[in-house]
Amino acid sequence: MSLSSTWSWPALHDAQRSVLLEVLVHGSRSRAELTQRTGMSRASLSRLSRDLVDLGFVVEGEAQARPGRGRPSETLHVRADAAQFAGIKLTGDALYAAVVDLSASVIDTVEHPLPSREVDDVVDLIGTVVADLLTAHPRISAVGVCLAGDVVGDQGHRRIVGSHFLGWENVPLADLVSDRCGLPTEIGNDVQSLTAAHHWFGAGRGARSLALIGLGAGIGAGLVIGGEPLRGAHGHPGKVGHLRVSDTGPTCDRGHVGCASAFVTIPAIERHAGGRPFDEVIARAAQGVPADVEVVESAVRALGIVISNLVCIVDVEKVILTGEGLPLAESFPDLLSSAIAEALDPAAETPSVLLHPFQFADYAWAAAVSAIRLVL
Ligand SMILES: [Zn+2]
Repeated sequence: MSLSSTWSWPALHDAQRSVLLEVLVHGSRSRAELTQRTGMSRASLSRLSRDLVDLGFVVEGEAQARPGRGRPSETLHVRADAAQFAGIKLTGDALYAAVVDLSASVIDTVEHPLPSREVDDVVDLIGTVVADLLTAHPRISAVGVCLAGDVVGDQGHRRIVGSHFLGWENVPLADLVSDRCGLPTEIGNDVQSLTAAHHWFGAGRGARSLALIGLGAGIGAGLVIGGEPLRGAHGHPGKVGHLRVSDTGPTCDRGHVGCASAFVTIPAIERHAGGRPFDEVIARAAQGVPADVEVVESAVRALGIVISNLVCIVDVEKVILTGEGLPLAESFPDLLSSAIAEALDPAAETPSVLLHPFQFADYAWAAAVSAIRLVL
């Protein structure tokens, strides 16, 4: 039996989808602007606008006068309450859920400990959580799940190749959750999902290409190229954690000398600082305590090399840094800029680097956005 209510996301055709996407990602647009941006005729735009109004996704607002350009053009606004999406971040111990509206604003959150790491138990918990959320938000149209792990497969049927934290291998999670919840389901690696979410609705909104680097217990990257998230042949693009950044220096937990993980991750920084907590090391470095300055500076230099390598290879418009380890990038901004510049190919453009504040709830938000991306 399907858990979903009587309402479900309608099948949109490509033209309807591209107009709705334009208004969703770029905000309210006049029909004249939409004509320009989509290349569609005014007549088509009028018809598509009417379709989207009838479907309840947009409302037509005040006509905007266009100086010297004929009659005023009506503006399309998204109806944020037209649909909702559930997003779930799984860790090894807990489930964090968020519900977003059609404009990707979080309108509800809930969290539960996992009863076990057995796939059936976790899928069952997801089903129960989504059923509860549906009673409060009956227009939940799709579910997104993200986790630390490698994910492959076709949209709507993706499976987990492996997830270290959950001890899972080869789990067809999208199909399992979709069957349990009766809703279309998207699955993603958490950094990849966060990258795609920032691309449509966050710090990378509207960029054709971007790299997001997540700093924390590890370091990983997500990429958007040509307007599409890069998925990779094996579900793990952007694995920059063990890139060699130095011929000397410390070793990582895999025994590599001078790899990114040996410098940049929170555990590496704590280890080099004699086991003191990350926040304390960053604070003492900011005060100029020499031993801590050395640890943080070497980490910032390593980060700069990782960023410049990514930029040289994929030539992105924008780099977003986020994650629990963001204070590292914030602590010596001039050093980060010079470390990027030093390692960059002289012919490459210096990227725009954005430091984006991070909350753990961002992952559940990103999972919910992946559900929007699935149906749209
Ligand atoms: Zn390594």
